[in-house]
Amino acid sequence: MTTTPTAIIDSESLTGTGRPVPVVDPANEELVTEIPEADDALVDQAVASARATFERGDWRLMSVADRQKVLRACADAIDAAADEIADIECSNTGIPYAQIRNGQALRSADNFRFFADYIGQMTSELYEQEKDYLTFVRREPVGVAGLISPWNSPLALGSMKVASAIAFGNSCVLKPAEQAPLGLTRLVEVIQGAGLPPGVVNLVNGFGASTGDRLVRHPDIACVSFTGGTRTGRIIMTAAGENLKPSIMELGGKSANIIFDDADFEQALDGALIGIFSNNGQQCLAGSRILVQRGIAKDFIEALVERTRKVRVGDPRDPATEIGPLANRNHYDHVMSFVPGANDSGARILAGGGRADGFDKGFYFKPTVAAVDSNSHRLCQDEIFGPFASLMVFDTDEEAYRIANESRFGLVGYAWSQSIDRIMTAQDRISAGTIWCNTPMMRDLHAPFGGFRESGVGAEGGRAAEMFFTHQKTVSIPRNRLNLRKLGA
Ligand code: NAD
Repeated sequence: MTTTPTAIIDSESLTGTGRPVPVVDPANEELVTEIPEADDALVDQAVASARATFERGDWRLMSVADRQKVLRACADAIDAAADEIADIECSNTGIPYAQIRNGQALRSADNFRFFADYIGQMTSELYEQEKDYLTFVRREPVGVAGLISPWNSPLALGSMKVASAIAFGNSCVLKPAEQAPLGLTRLVEVIQGAGLPPGVVNLVNGFGASTGDRLVRHPDIACVSFTGGTRTGRIIMTAAGENLKPSIMELGGKSANIIFDDADFEQALDGALIGIFSNNGQQCLAGSRILVQRGIAKDFIEALVERTRKVRVGDPRDPATEIGPLANRNHYDHVMSFVPGANDSGARILAGGGRADGFDKGFYFKPTVAAVDSNSHRLCQDEIFGPFASLMVFDTDEEAYRIANESRFGLVGYAWSQSIDRIMTAQDRISAGTIWCNTPMMRDLHAPFGGFRESGVGAEGGRAAEMFFTHQKTVSIPRNRLNLRKLGA
Protein backbone atom coordinates (compact mmCIF):
# COMPACT_ATOMS: atom_id res chain seq x y z
CA MET A 1 0.00 0.00 0.00
CA THR A 2 1.20 3.52 -0.75
CA THR A 3 1.65 6.03 2.06
CA THR A 4 -0.21 9.27 1.74
CA PRO A 5 0.17 11.97 4.36
CA THR A 6 -2.70 13.04 6.56
CA ALA A 7 -1.63 16.64 6.25
CA ILE A 8 0.93 18.94 4.71
CA ILE A 9 1.68 21.76 7.11
CA ASP A 10 4.56 24.22 6.93
CA SER A 11 5.79 22.26 3.88
CA GLU A 12 6.07 19.05 5.92
CA SER A 13 4.13 15.88 5.25
CA LEU A 14 2.60 14.53 8.47
CA THR A 15 0.87 11.29 9.36
CA GLY A 16 -1.94 11.72 11.84
CA THR A 17 -3.58 9.38 14.30
CA GLY A 18 -7.24 9.91 13.41
CA ARG A 19 -9.67 7.26 12.15
CA PRO A 20 -8.66 5.68 8.86
CA VAL A 21 -10.00 7.07 5.59
CA PRO A 22 -10.09 4.13 3.14
CA VAL A 23 -9.07 4.94 -0.42
CA VAL A 24 -10.24 2.41 -3.02
CA ASP A 25 -9.26 1.81 -6.66
CA PRO A 26 -12.63 1.91 -8.44
CA ALA A 27 -11.34 -0.29 -11.27
CA ASN A 28 -10.81 -3.33 -9.02
CA GLU A 29 -12.33 -2.31 -5.66
CA GLU A 30 -9.01 -2.95 -3.91
CA LEU A 31 -7.88 -0.82 -1.00
CA VAL A 32 -5.10 1.47 -2.26
CA THR A 33 -4.33 2.96 1.13
CA GLU A 34 -5.81 4.14 4.38
CA ILE A 35 -5.07 7.67 5.48
CA PRO A 36 -5.47 8.54 9.15
CA GLU A 37 -7.90 11.45 9.24
CA ALA A 38 -6.75 14.95 10.20
CA ASP A 39 -8.35 15.52 13.60
CA ASP A 40 -9.31 18.90 15.05
CA ALA A 41 -5.80 19.54 16.37
CA LEU A 42 -4.21 18.99 12.95
CA VAL A 43 -6.77 21.19 11.21
CA ASP A 44 -6.06 23.90 13.78
CA GLN A 45 -2.32 23.45 13.23
CA ALA A 46 -2.74 23.81 9.46
CA VAL A 47 -4.77 26.99 9.84
CA ALA A 48 -2.29 28.36 12.38
CA SER A 49 0.59 27.73 9.96
CA ALA A 50 -1.25 29.50 7.14
CA ARG A 51 -2.17 32.36 9.44
CA ALA A 52 1.40 32.80 10.74
CA THR A 53 2.81 32.93 7.20
CA PHE A 54 0.19 35.47 6.27
CA GLU A 55 0.90 37.65 9.31
CA ARG A 56 4.66 37.53 8.74
CA GLY A 57 4.11 38.55 5.14
CA ASP A 58 6.45 35.84 3.76
CA TRP A 59 4.27 35.56 0.70
CA ARG A 60 1.78 38.41 0.78
CA LEU A 61 4.54 41.04 0.84
CA MET A 62 6.65 39.41 -1.85
CA SER A 63 6.90 41.47 -5.03
CA VAL A 64 4.49 40.50 -7.78
CA ALA A 65 7.44 39.52 -9.96
CA ASP A 66 8.74 37.13 -7.29
CA ARG A 67 5.31 35.63 -6.69
CA GLN A 68 4.95 35.12 -10.43
CA LYS A 69 8.28 33.26 -10.51
CA VAL A 70 7.15 30.93 -7.74
CA LEU A 71 3.75 30.29 -9.34
CA ARG A 72 5.47 29.44 -12.63
CA ALA A 73 7.90 27.18 -10.78
CA CYS A 74 4.87 25.40 -9.24
CA ALA A 75 3.54 24.84 -12.77
CA ASP A 76 6.89 23.49 -13.94
CA ALA A 77 7.08 21.16 -10.93
CA ILE A 78 3.63 19.79 -11.73
CA ASP A 79 4.59 19.28 -15.38
CA ALA A 80 7.75 17.46 -14.33
CA ALA A 81 5.76 15.14 -12.05
CA ALA A 82 2.76 14.80 -14.39
CA ASP A 83 3.32 11.11 -15.23
CA GLU A 84 3.49 10.18 -11.57
CA ILE A 85 0.56 12.39 -10.53
CA ALA A 86 -1.59 11.06 -13.40
CA ASP A 87 -0.73 7.50 -12.45
CA ILE A 88 -1.76 8.05 -8.83
CA GLU A 89 -4.92 9.88 -9.87
CA CYS A 90 -5.89 7.12 -12.29
CA SER A 91 -5.73 4.46 -9.59
CA ASN A 92 -7.88 6.57 -7.29
CA THR A 93 -10.54 8.01 -9.63
CA GLY A 94 -10.91 5.50 -12.49
CA ILE A 95 -10.70 8.33 -15.03
CA PRO A 96 -8.83 7.08 -18.12
CA TYR A 97 -5.10 7.71 -17.71
CA ALA A 98 -4.82 9.49 -21.07
CA GLN A 99 -7.56 11.96 -20.11
CA ILE A 100 -5.75 12.78 -16.86
CA ARG A 101 -2.22 12.91 -18.30
CA ASN A 102 -3.14 14.97 -21.36
CA GLY A 103 -5.97 16.91 -19.78
CA GLN A 104 -6.31 17.43 -16.05
CA ALA A 105 -2.62 17.21 -15.14
CA LEU A 106 -1.70 19.81 -17.78
CA ARG A 107 -4.62 21.97 -16.73
CA SER A 108 -3.37 21.87 -13.13
CA ALA A 109 -0.04 23.32 -14.19
CA ASP A 110 -1.76 25.84 -16.46
CA ASN A 111 -3.91 27.08 -13.59
CA PHE A 112 -0.73 28.27 -11.84
CA ARG A 113 0.61 29.84 -15.05
CA PHE A 114 -2.68 31.58 -15.74
CA PHE A 115 -2.76 33.24 -12.33
CA ALA A 116 0.94 34.13 -12.55
CA ASP A 117 0.13 36.03 -15.74
CA TYR A 118 -3.04 37.48 -14.29
CA ILE A 119 -1.44 39.15 -11.28
CA GLY A 120 1.10 40.80 -13.59
CA GLN A 121 -1.76 42.54 -15.39
CA MET A 122 -3.80 43.75 -12.42
CA THR A 123 -4.86 47.36 -12.46
CA SER A 124 -6.75 49.44 -9.97
CA GLU A 125 -9.15 52.36 -9.84
CA LEU A 126 -8.37 56.00 -9.18
CA TYR A 127 -11.13 58.58 -8.55
CA GLU A 128 -10.80 62.34 -8.81
CA GLN A 129 -14.39 63.46 -8.32
CA GLU A 130 -13.40 65.47 -5.25
CA LYS A 131 -10.99 67.99 -6.78
CA ASP A 132 -8.62 68.28 -3.81
CA TYR A 133 -8.22 64.54 -3.39
CA LEU A 134 -6.94 61.43 -5.06
CA THR A 135 -8.95 58.39 -4.04
CA PHE A 136 -7.67 55.01 -5.11
CA VAL A 137 -8.72 51.44 -4.51
CA ARG A 138 -6.22 48.81 -3.45
CA ARG A 139 -6.86 45.08 -3.47
CA GLU A 140 -5.41 43.21 -0.52
CA PRO A 141 -5.35 39.47 0.13
CA VAL A 142 -8.04 38.40 2.61
CA GLY A 143 -5.98 36.02 4.76
CA VAL A 144 -6.34 32.25 5.00
CA ALA A 145 -8.64 30.64 2.44
CA GLY A 146 -10.42 27.37 3.26
CA LEU A 147 -10.65 25.31 0.08
CA ILE A 148 -12.86 22.22 -0.24
CA SER A 149 -12.78 20.18 -3.44
CA PRO A 150 -14.77 17.22 -4.87
CA TRP A 151 -13.75 13.78 -6.15
CA ASN A 152 -14.88 13.95 -9.78
CA SER A 153 -11.98 15.97 -11.14
CA PRO A 154 -9.72 16.48 -8.16
CA LEU A 155 -6.54 17.73 -9.86
CA ALA A 156 -8.07 20.34 -12.15
CA LEU A 157 -10.56 21.67 -9.60
CA GLY A 158 -8.32 21.54 -6.51
CA SER A 159 -5.36 23.17 -8.27
CA MET A 160 -7.62 25.94 -9.59
CA LYS A 161 -8.62 26.77 -6.02
CA VAL A 162 -5.07 26.75 -4.71
CA ALA A 163 -3.59 28.76 -7.60
CA SER A 164 -6.33 31.40 -7.53
CA ALA A 165 -6.23 31.79 -3.75
CA ILE A 166 -2.47 32.14 -3.35
CA ALA A 167 -1.78 34.24 -6.48
CA PHE A 168 -3.26 37.29 -4.73
CA GLY A 169 -1.10 36.79 -1.63
CA ASN A 170 -3.36 34.63 0.53
CA SER A 171 -2.33 31.45 2.24
CA CYS A 172 -4.66 28.46 2.21
CA VAL A 173 -5.70 25.13 3.65
CA LEU A 174 -7.05 22.65 1.10
CA LYS A 175 -9.22 19.65 1.97
CA PRO A 176 -9.51 17.20 -0.92
CA ALA A 177 -12.49 14.82 -1.14
CA GLU A 178 -11.98 11.79 1.09
CA GLN A 179 -12.78 9.41 -1.78
CA ALA A 180 -10.08 10.80 -4.08
CA PRO A 181 -7.34 12.57 -2.15
CA LEU A 182 -4.23 10.92 -3.63
CA GLY A 183 -3.43 12.92 -6.78
CA LEU A 184 -4.11 16.27 -5.17
CA THR A 185 -2.08 15.42 -2.07
CA ARG A 186 0.86 14.48 -4.28
CA LEU A 187 0.44 17.70 -6.26
CA VAL A 188 0.58 19.77 -3.07
CA GLU A 189 3.72 17.86 -1.99
CA VAL A 190 5.33 18.49 -5.37
CA ILE A 191 4.79 22.26 -5.34
CA GLN A 192 6.30 22.64 -1.87
CA GLY A 193 9.72 22.36 -3.52
CA ALA A 194 9.00 25.19 -5.98
CA GLY A 195 9.86 28.10 -3.70
CA LEU A 196 6.61 28.60 -1.80
CA PRO A 197 7.35 29.83 1.72
CA PRO A 198 6.29 27.19 4.29
CA GLY A 199 2.67 27.57 5.35
CA VAL A 200 1.35 29.16 2.15
CA VAL A 201 -0.25 25.96 0.86
CA ASN A 202 -1.37 23.52 3.54
CA LEU A 203 -3.54 20.44 3.15
CA VAL A 204 -5.62 18.29 5.46
CA ASN A 205 -7.16 14.94 4.56
CA GLY A 206 -10.32 13.61 6.16
CA PHE A 207 -14.07 13.29 5.96
CA GLY A 208 -16.27 16.26 5.12
CA ALA A 209 -18.44 16.31 8.22
CA SER A 210 -15.42 16.26 10.57
CA THR A 211 -12.20 17.59 8.99
CA GLY A 212 -14.05 19.72 6.43
CA ASP A 213 -16.48 21.14 8.97
CA ARG A 214 -13.69 22.03 11.39
CA LEU A 215 -11.91 23.89 8.61
CA VAL A 216 -14.96 25.82 7.42
CA ARG A 217 -15.85 26.94 10.96
CA HIS A 218 -12.32 27.84 12.04
CA PRO A 219 -12.27 31.49 13.18
CA ASP A 220 -9.02 32.18 11.31
CA ILE A 221 -10.44 31.10 7.95
CA ALA A 222 -11.26 34.31 6.09
CA CYS A 223 -13.23 32.82 3.18
CA VAL A 224 -14.42 29.48 1.86
CA SER A 225 -14.30 28.22 -1.71
CA PHE A 226 -16.28 25.02 -2.22
CA THR A 227 -16.95 22.77 -5.19
CA GLY A 228 -19.25 19.82 -4.68
CA GLY A 229 -22.85 18.75 -4.34
CA THR A 230 -25.71 21.19 -3.79
CA ARG A 231 -26.77 19.57 -0.49
CA THR A 232 -23.25 19.91 0.93
CA GLY A 233 -23.05 23.44 -0.44
CA ARG A 234 -26.07 24.44 1.62
CA ILE A 235 -24.48 23.06 4.79
CA ILE A 236 -21.13 24.75 4.14
CA MET A 237 -22.64 28.08 3.14
CA THR A 238 -24.76 28.06 6.29
CA ALA A 239 -21.69 27.34 8.43
CA ALA A 240 -19.68 30.05 6.66
CA GLY A 241 -22.59 32.49 6.88
CA GLU A 242 -22.95 32.01 10.64
CA ASN A 243 -19.43 33.34 10.93
CA LEU A 244 -19.94 36.01 8.24
CA LYS A 245 -17.34 34.46 5.97
CA PRO A 246 -17.71 35.06 2.25
CA SER A 247 -18.04 31.84 0.30
CA ILE A 248 -18.10 30.67 -3.31
CA MET A 249 -20.27 27.66 -4.08
CA GLU A 250 -19.68 25.70 -7.30
CA LEU A 251 -22.45 23.11 -7.21
CA GLY A 252 -24.39 20.60 -9.28
CA GLY A 253 -25.95 20.79 -12.71
CA LYS A 254 -28.51 19.22 -15.05
CA SER A 255 -27.69 21.14 -18.16
CA ALA A 256 -29.63 21.25 -21.41
CA ASN A 257 -27.93 20.50 -24.70
CA ILE A 258 -30.24 21.87 -27.43
CA ILE A 259 -29.79 20.44 -30.93
CA PHE A 260 -31.78 22.58 -33.38
CA ASP A 261 -32.86 21.10 -36.73
CA ASP A 262 -30.32 23.22 -38.66
CA ALA A 263 -27.35 22.10 -36.55
CA ASP A 264 -24.22 20.67 -38.16
CA PHE A 265 -25.34 17.07 -37.55
CA GLU A 266 -21.92 15.43 -37.10
CA GLN A 267 -20.57 18.22 -34.89
CA ALA A 268 -23.66 18.19 -32.72
CA LEU A 269 -23.52 14.41 -32.43
CA ASP A 270 -19.84 14.38 -31.48
CA GLY A 271 -20.43 17.28 -29.10
CA ALA A 272 -23.40 15.59 -27.41
CA LEU A 273 -21.38 12.41 -26.81
CA ILE A 274 -18.41 14.36 -25.45
CA GLY A 275 -20.78 16.46 -23.34
CA ILE A 276 -22.26 13.49 -21.50
CA PHE A 277 -19.53 10.83 -21.54
CA SER A 278 -16.28 12.72 -20.82
CA ASN A 279 -14.65 12.20 -17.44
CA ASN A 280 -16.68 8.98 -17.02
CA GLY A 281 -19.84 11.09 -17.16
CA GLN A 282 -19.02 12.63 -13.78
CA GLN A 283 -19.07 16.30 -14.65
CA CYS A 284 -21.00 19.16 -13.16
CA LEU A 285 -21.09 20.74 -16.61
CA ALA A 286 -22.33 17.66 -18.47
CA GLY A 287 -24.95 18.17 -21.17
CA SER A 288 -27.10 15.59 -19.42
CA ARG A 289 -30.47 16.61 -20.90
CA ILE A 290 -30.20 16.31 -24.68
CA LEU A 291 -33.06 18.15 -26.43
CA VAL A 292 -33.47 17.36 -30.14
CA GLN A 293 -35.77 19.15 -32.55
CA ARG A 294 -38.38 16.89 -34.15
CA GLY A 295 -37.28 17.33 -37.78
CA ILE A 296 -33.93 15.61 -37.13
CA ALA A 297 -34.90 13.63 -34.04
CA LYS A 298 -35.24 10.17 -35.63
CA ASP A 299 -31.85 10.27 -37.38
CA PHE A 300 -30.10 11.99 -34.49
CA ILE A 301 -31.38 9.58 -31.86
CA GLU A 302 -30.52 6.55 -33.98
CA ALA A 303 -26.98 7.84 -34.48
CA LEU A 304 -26.60 8.79 -30.81
CA VAL A 305 -27.77 5.37 -29.65
CA GLU A 306 -25.51 3.54 -32.10
CA ARG A 307 -22.45 5.52 -31.05
CA THR A 308 -23.33 5.19 -27.35
CA ARG A 309 -23.39 1.39 -27.70
CA LYS A 310 -19.89 1.54 -29.17
CA VAL A 311 -18.32 3.77 -26.50
CA ARG A 312 -15.47 1.67 -25.09
CA VAL A 313 -15.82 0.96 -21.38
CA GLY A 314 -12.71 -0.50 -19.85
CA ASP A 315 -9.67 -0.42 -17.64
CA PRO A 316 -8.71 3.24 -17.17
CA ARG A 317 -5.07 2.33 -17.89
CA ASP A 318 -5.90 0.93 -21.31
CA PRO A 319 -5.26 3.68 -23.90
CA ALA A 320 -8.29 2.46 -25.90
CA THR A 321 -10.66 3.07 -22.97
CA GLU A 322 -13.13 5.91 -23.35
CA ILE A 323 -15.04 5.40 -20.09
CA GLY A 324 -13.61 3.92 -16.91
CA PRO A 325 -15.47 2.87 -13.77
CA LEU A 326 -17.55 5.23 -11.67
CA ALA A 327 -15.56 6.76 -8.85
CA ASN A 328 -16.75 4.86 -5.80
CA ARG A 329 -19.27 2.36 -4.45
CA ASN A 330 -21.74 4.95 -3.14
CA HIS A 331 -21.74 6.76 -6.41
CA TYR A 332 -22.17 3.53 -8.41
CA ASP A 333 -25.24 2.71 -6.26
CA HIS A 334 -26.55 6.25 -6.82
CA VAL A 335 -26.25 6.04 -10.63
CA MET A 336 -27.68 2.50 -10.63
CA SER A 337 -30.70 3.71 -8.63
CA PHE A 338 -31.91 5.60 -11.72
CA VAL A 339 -32.07 2.47 -13.88
CA PRO A 340 -35.27 0.78 -12.59
CA GLY A 341 -37.23 4.05 -12.78
CA ALA A 342 -35.99 4.65 -16.30
CA ASN A 343 -38.35 2.11 -17.82
CA ASP A 344 -41.44 3.05 -15.88
CA SER A 345 -44.09 5.32 -17.28
CA GLY A 346 -42.62 8.20 -19.19
CA ALA A 347 -39.16 6.87 -20.01
CA ARG A 348 -37.45 4.13 -22.06
CA ILE A 349 -33.82 3.05 -22.02
CA LEU A 350 -32.49 3.18 -25.58
CA ALA A 351 -28.88 2.17 -24.86
CA GLY A 352 -27.01 0.82 -21.83
CA GLY A 353 -28.87 0.87 -18.55
CA GLY A 354 -26.96 -1.13 -15.97
CA ARG A 355 -23.66 -2.73 -15.14
CA ALA A 356 -21.17 -2.88 -18.01
CA ASP A 357 -20.59 -6.41 -19.34
CA GLY A 358 -17.40 -8.36 -18.73
CA PHE A 359 -16.32 -6.99 -15.35
CA ASP A 360 -16.40 -9.08 -12.16
CA LYS A 361 -15.05 -6.22 -10.11
CA GLY A 362 -15.03 -2.46 -10.34
CA PHE A 363 -17.76 0.14 -10.55
CA TYR A 364 -18.34 -0.17 -14.30
CA PHE A 365 -21.56 1.27 -15.69
CA LYS A 366 -22.73 1.09 -19.30
CA PRO A 367 -23.03 4.39 -21.18
CA THR A 368 -26.76 5.00 -21.12
CA VAL A 369 -29.32 6.99 -23.07
CA ALA A 370 -32.97 7.13 -22.00
CA ALA A 371 -35.80 8.76 -23.95
CA VAL A 372 -38.03 10.73 -21.59
CA ASP A 373 -41.50 12.08 -22.33
CA SER A 374 -41.59 14.91 -19.82
CA ASN A 375 -39.01 17.23 -18.35
CA SER A 376 -40.63 16.78 -14.95
CA HIS A 377 -39.44 13.14 -14.87
CA ARG A 378 -36.81 12.36 -12.25
CA LEU A 379 -34.35 11.54 -15.04
CA CYS A 380 -34.56 15.17 -16.15
CA GLN A 381 -34.69 16.89 -12.78
CA ASP A 382 -32.13 15.02 -10.63
CA GLU A 383 -28.39 15.12 -11.14
CA ILE A 384 -27.34 11.55 -11.96
CA PHE A 385 -23.68 12.55 -12.43
CA GLY A 386 -22.81 9.52 -14.52
CA PRO A 387 -22.64 8.44 -18.18
CA PHE A 388 -26.43 8.64 -18.38
CA ALA A 389 -28.16 11.01 -20.81
CA SER A 390 -31.84 11.90 -20.80
CA LEU A 391 -33.22 12.61 -24.23
CA MET A 392 -36.24 14.72 -25.12
CA VAL A 393 -37.77 15.79 -28.44
CA PHE A 394 -39.10 19.34 -28.92
CA ASP A 395 -41.05 21.10 -31.68
CA THR A 396 -40.55 24.85 -31.35
CA ASP A 397 -37.57 26.89 -30.19
CA GLU A 398 -39.76 28.35 -27.45
CA GLU A 399 -40.45 24.86 -26.16
CA ALA A 400 -36.71 24.12 -26.06
CA TYR A 401 -36.01 27.22 -23.96
CA ARG A 402 -38.87 26.44 -21.61
CA ILE A 403 -37.59 22.89 -21.05
CA ALA A 404 -33.99 24.06 -20.71
CA ASN A 405 -34.92 26.56 -18.02
CA GLU A 406 -37.33 24.29 -16.11
CA SER A 407 -34.63 23.14 -13.73
CA ARG A 408 -33.56 24.06 -10.25
CA PHE A 409 -30.02 24.03 -11.63
CA GLY A 410 -28.47 26.58 -13.99
CA LEU A 411 -24.81 25.76 -14.46
CA VAL A 412 -24.31 25.66 -18.24
CA GLY A 413 -26.27 25.31 -21.48
CA TYR A 414 -25.34 24.13 -24.96
CA ALA A 415 -26.91 25.14 -28.28
CA TRP A 416 -26.22 23.77 -31.78
CA SER A 417 -27.42 25.63 -34.87
CA GLN A 418 -25.87 27.00 -38.05
CA SER A 419 -28.05 30.10 -37.88
CA ILE A 420 -26.40 33.03 -36.17
CA ASP A 421 -29.81 34.44 -35.28
CA ARG A 422 -30.80 31.27 -33.50
CA ILE A 423 -27.50 31.09 -31.63
CA MET A 424 -27.83 34.71 -30.54
CA THR A 425 -31.34 34.03 -29.28
CA ALA A 426 -30.28 30.81 -27.55
CA GLN A 427 -27.41 32.40 -25.65
CA ASP A 428 -29.87 35.03 -24.48
CA ARG A 429 -32.74 32.72 -23.55
CA ILE A 430 -30.96 29.86 -21.79
CA SER A 431 -30.77 30.69 -18.12
CA ALA A 432 -27.37 29.42 -16.95
CA GLY A 433 -23.96 30.75 -15.94
CA THR A 434 -22.11 29.60 -19.08
CA ILE A 435 -23.47 28.97 -22.59
CA TRP A 436 -21.50 26.94 -25.12
CA CYS A 437 -22.61 27.46 -28.74
CA ASN A 438 -21.64 24.88 -31.37
CA THR A 439 -19.00 23.43 -29.07
CA PRO A 440 -18.71 21.01 -26.20
CA MET A 441 -17.29 22.42 -22.96
CA MET A 442 -14.35 24.78 -23.08
CA ARG A 443 -12.99 27.07 -20.40
CA ASP A 444 -11.41 30.44 -20.97
CA LEU A 445 -9.97 30.99 -17.52
CA HIS A 446 -10.36 34.76 -17.83
CA ALA A 447 -14.14 34.38 -17.89
CA PRO A 448 -16.23 33.70 -14.80
CA PHE A 449 -17.48 30.17 -14.29
CA GLY A 450 -20.36 29.89 -11.86
CA GLY A 451 -23.92 28.67 -11.68
CA PHE A 452 -27.38 30.21 -11.44
CA ARG A 453 -29.97 29.00 -8.89
CA GLU A 454 -28.97 25.75 -7.11
CA SER A 455 -25.83 25.43 -9.24
CA GLY A 456 -24.01 27.89 -7.10
CA VAL A 457 -23.18 31.28 -5.72
CA GLY A 458 -20.26 33.33 -7.02
CA ALA A 459 -17.80 32.25 -9.67
CA GLU A 460 -14.25 31.16 -10.37
CA GLY A 461 -12.07 32.57 -13.17
CA GLY A 462 -9.65 35.48 -13.50
CA ARG A 463 -11.46 38.60 -12.37
CA ALA A 464 -14.04 36.64 -10.39
CA ALA A 465 -11.23 35.08 -8.34
CA GLU A 466 -9.60 38.49 -7.87
CA MET A 467 -12.87 39.87 -6.53
CA PHE A 468 -13.34 36.93 -4.16
CA PHE A 469 -9.81 36.41 -2.86
CA THR A 470 -9.06 40.09 -2.23
CA HIS A 471 -10.52 42.84 -0.06
CA GLN A 472 -11.10 46.24 -1.57
CA LYS A 473 -9.47 49.03 0.34
CA THR A 474 -10.28 52.63 -0.50
CA VAL A 475 -7.57 55.21 0.25
CA SER A 476 -8.12 59.00 0.02
CA ILE A 477 -5.18 61.45 0.07
CA PRO A 478 -5.37 65.25 -0.34
CA ARG A 479 -3.30 66.69 -3.16
CA ASN A 480 -2.14 69.60 -0.97
CA ARG A 481 -1.99 70.53 2.68
CA LEU A 482 -5.59 71.08 3.84
CA ASN A 483 -7.10 74.15 5.34
CA LEU A 484 -8.91 72.27 8.12
CA ARG A 485 -11.52 73.75 10.44
CA LYS A 486 -9.91 74.54 13.78
CA LEU A 487 -12.33 73.07 16.30
CA GLY A 488 -11.83 74.41 19.82
CA ALA A 489 -9.15 76.87 18.69
P1 NAD B 1 -19.71 16.43 -1.93
O1 NAD B 1 -20.58 17.56 -1.72
O2 NAD B 1 -20.12 15.11 -1.39
O3 NAD B 1 -18.24 16.66 -1.34
C1 NAD B 1 -17.39 17.71 -1.78
C2 NAD B 1 -16.40 18.04 -0.70
O4 NAD B 1 -17.07 18.57 0.43
C3 NAD B 1 -15.59 16.86 -0.18
O5 NAD B 1 -14.25 17.28 0.02
C4 NAD B 1 -16.25 16.56 1.14
O6 NAD B 1 -15.41 15.92 2.06
C5 NAD B 1 -16.60 17.95 1.61
N1 NAD B 1 -17.66 18.03 2.62
C6 NAD B 1 -18.75 17.25 2.76
N2 NAD B 1 -19.48 17.65 3.83
C7 NAD B 1 -18.84 18.71 4.37
C8 NAD B 1 -19.10 19.57 5.48
N3 NAD B 1 -20.18 19.42 6.25
N4 NAD B 1 -18.22 20.55 5.75
C9 NAD B 1 -17.13 20.74 4.98
N5 NAD B 1 -16.82 19.94 3.92
C10 NAD B 1 -17.68 18.95 3.61
O7 NAD B 1 -19.53 16.46 -3.50
P2 NAD B 1 -18.92 15.34 -4.38
O8 NAD B 1 -19.93 14.25 -4.39
O9 NAD B 1 -17.52 15.09 -3.94
O10 NAD B 1 -18.87 16.04 -5.81
C11 NAD B 1 -19.83 15.87 -6.78
C12 NAD B 1 -20.70 17.10 -6.87
O11 NAD B 1 -19.89 18.23 -7.15
C13 NAD B 1 -21.71 17.04 -8.01
O12 NAD B 1 -22.94 17.51 -7.56
C14 NAD B 1 -21.12 17.99 -9.04
O13 NAD B 1 -22.07 18.56 -9.90
C15 NAD B 1 -20.47 19.01 -8.19
N6 NAD B 1 -19.42 19.71 -8.95
C16 NAD B 1 -19.60 21.03 -9.26
C17 NAD B 1 -18.65 21.71 -10.01
C18 NAD B 1 -18.84 23.17 -10.38
O14 NAD B 1 -17.87 23.81 -10.77
N7 NAD B 1 -20.03 23.71 -10.29
C19 NAD B 1 -17.49 21.04 -10.42
C20 NAD B 1 -17.35 19.70 -10.09
C21 NAD B 1 -18.32 19.05 -9.33
